[in-house]
Amino acid sequence: MTHSYRITLLPGDGIGPEIMAVAVDVLKVVGEQLDLRFEFQEALIGGAAIDAVGEPLPADTLEMCRNSDAVLLAAIGGYKWDSLPRHLRPETGLLGLRAGLSLFANLRPATILPQLIDASSLKREVVEGVDIMVVRELTGGIYFGRPRGVFTTETGEKRGVNTMAYTEAEIDRIGRVAFETAQKRGKRLCSVDKANVLEVSQLWRDRITQLGSEYPDVELSHLYVDNAAMQLLRAPKQFDTIVTGNLFGDILSDAAAMLTGSIGMLPSASLGDKNPGVFEPVHGSAPDIAGQDKANPLAQVLSAAMMLRYGLNQPTAAQRIEQAVLQVLDSGDRTGDIMSEGMNLLGCRAMGDSLIRALERS
Ligand code: NAD
Repeated sequence: MTHSYRITLLPGDGIGPEIMAVAVDVLKVVGEQLDLRFEFQEALIGGAAIDAVGEPLPADTLEMCRNSDAVLLAAIGGYKWDSLPRHLRPETGLLGLRAGLSLFANLRPATILPQLIDASSLKREVVEGVDIMVVRELTGGIYFGRPRGVFTTETGEKRGVNTMAYTEAEIDRIGRVAFETAQKRGKRLCSVDKANVLEVSQLWRDRITQLGSEYPDVELSHLYVDNAAMQLLRAPKQFDTIVTGNLFGDILSDAAAMLTGSIGMLPSASLGDKNPGVFEPVHGSAPDIAGQDKANPLAQVLSAAMMLRYGLNQPTAAQRIEQAVLQVLDSGDRTGDIMSEGMNLLGCRAMGDSLIRALERS
């Protein structure tokens, strides 16, 4: 049976359009191979939208995203728009998109590819085989809790306040995403909190533990965040899926990603309850190499694979793309950012052609 999906493409700025073109070509080939029909619709975001219509997230872009099955985003931003007031900055468009689609779960994988193991700053034996997914809560916790602000006390001293707060419902919905993600992976989930000190974390731990009884096939463990940070660097292979709140997730997902050492290879997904998810590379718009056919398109292509797996529930198609990426790396093809001695240096488009050939061979 043919499955049809409407995908909104947001190429954005800088290298965005170059890497998006490669991901779309890859999706078209996989679609033909597996009888998936993709209807692509393109919309403006970031600096490109500011230049065209004077705002970073036009209303029709958000509407188009809401009415699609998934959103594939490249990157936004660049020097040209850096001096604009905050509400007109490209980054404001991205935050508006996440808020407008109520995306509360952020999934960031950190997978060490055997071909790029020497890009990691840790020893080969520590990182070889690492395959971690960090599920971070995105719309609650200390970044949004109230009261917040800088207040003046009775003695005239200034006092800064932020509030870490989670409701049971907020914990449950991120918990469910995490258990379901673990089910699609190695079936082990580690919940990270600071329950020895924080009441909000104790509630987090209690709810996640209770939820665990609904997922008997997933092995649940808990770690305090300070220990989790140490374990990530000491023995990262012990982790499969990690779930944590907004602040701890912000820090741990960057630390986990850097185990891999190569920013041009890292995809991510942001998921909500009812709206489509947004799938995008972790890197930015790389204005220093934009328009020069030097960008590494693999994080974008792997974001398309995440879209297939976590947004459209098409794991076979996702796997096909991930295999093609491994094959081109096996063949020695590299863009400049992951280049090493003896490998073949390719531009963005040629890397895309190599991926298509690998897919056609599979
Ligand atoms: P960046 O990720 O764009 O670039 C950092 C470095 O990594 C640069 O040297 C760049 O050339 C390189 N790089 C990044 N992606 C690459 C790729 N695919 N292939 C090869 N090299 C790559 O971060 P930055 O320089 O701090 O930010 C540039 C702009 O991107 C800023 O305007 C920033 O606000 C924006 N930004 C956007 C996002 C997003 O869209 N989600 C994320 C981060 C930064």
